[in-house]
Amino acid sequence: MVESDTSGLIHPLAWHGSAWSSLLGALNKNHLAHGLLIYGHNGVGKLHLAKALAHLLLCSSSEAGRACGQCNSCLLNSAGTHPDLFFAQPEQAGKAIKVDLIRELNHFVSQTSQMSGRKVVVIEPADAMNINSSNALLKTLEEPAGDTHLILVVDSLSSLMPTIRSRCQYYELQPPKRDEARSFLAERYPDRTDHDVLIDIAEGGPFYAVELIENGKLEWRSLLSSGLVDVLKGKSTVEVAESWRAIDLMDALYWLDNWIKDMVILVMTKDESRIKNKDLSELMGLVLQKSVDPRFLHRYREILQATERAAIESHPNKQLAFDRLLIDWCKMISM
Ligand SMILES: [Zn+2]
Repeated sequence: MVESDTSGLIHPLAWHGSAWSSLLGALNKNHLAHGLLIYGHNGVGKLHLAKALAHLLLCSSSEAGRACGQCNSCLLNSAGTHPDLFFAQPEQAGKAIKVDLIRELNHFVSQTSQMSGRKVVVIEPADAMNINSSNALLKTLEEPAGDTHLILVVDSLSSLMPTIRSRCQYYELQPPKRDEARSFLAERYPDRTDHDVLIDIAEGGPFYAVELIENGKLEWRSLLSSGLVDVLKGKSTVEVAESWRAIDLMDALYWLDNWIKDMVILVMTKDESRIKNKDLSELMGLVLQKSVDPRFLHRYREILQATERAAIESHPNKQLAFDRLLIDWCKMISM
């Protein structure tokens, strides 16, 4: 007899309740659309919910909106090897979902199911599809063959082409309450004592906090902030840019933009309790001490956005980009 190991089976989390009930409601009434769009703030667990739904849809003896954990489909999903579940994700985070992958997806949808008759596709993040990929998906999204559901996962609805959006049923995922986020992190990381700091850094998205921990991004983040402090204390921008070489440029731009927003709040209100990145006390303290003009901070955000656009369109020299950002940072602070 085969032991059933259902540790890989995914179920919705405490704060997924409202989106999950809407999905179940539609499913029970036989109104669940072929194209489903799950959207919401970064790190709220949209992919988790998409997987939970996929596991439920593929289970052959689900009860009360819960995958049984015992049937062949559940066992295959626990092992991550279900033949009727297809994931379309970029090869690398931040890169595009290429049209070849969408062609593969179209082929998967056109084939008959290998198990219970139903098939599920998860596209995450759906806004990683470029125009060609999106166009290649349209027909399948409109009329998928057989009993197929396509679940698109995205932070913001506006980042998708209207032709994609109009073919989907929407489900918004709300962020957890603070105590829900805290218990989620405490359960995963019982030895850490910084759950609250993590929730703030991750702007309430617990899965973003997990990504920061698991991918060593917390270390990047501290390197980034200490670099900003170091150049203000006289260290050369080239030297600091060199110390940032491991940091992903897009992550750096995201954090810097986030910090600048906090700095605006700080210089306008002088109230440290109102900022999100409370752990960056040295950096924030320096900005407060220099009484930087908020207009310069807004201008710096424009520089960050321009750097991001350039990074998406081409492959910039990262060291050079970091060095320029540091030079502009020093200029702004000393104005
Ligand atoms: Zn099952």
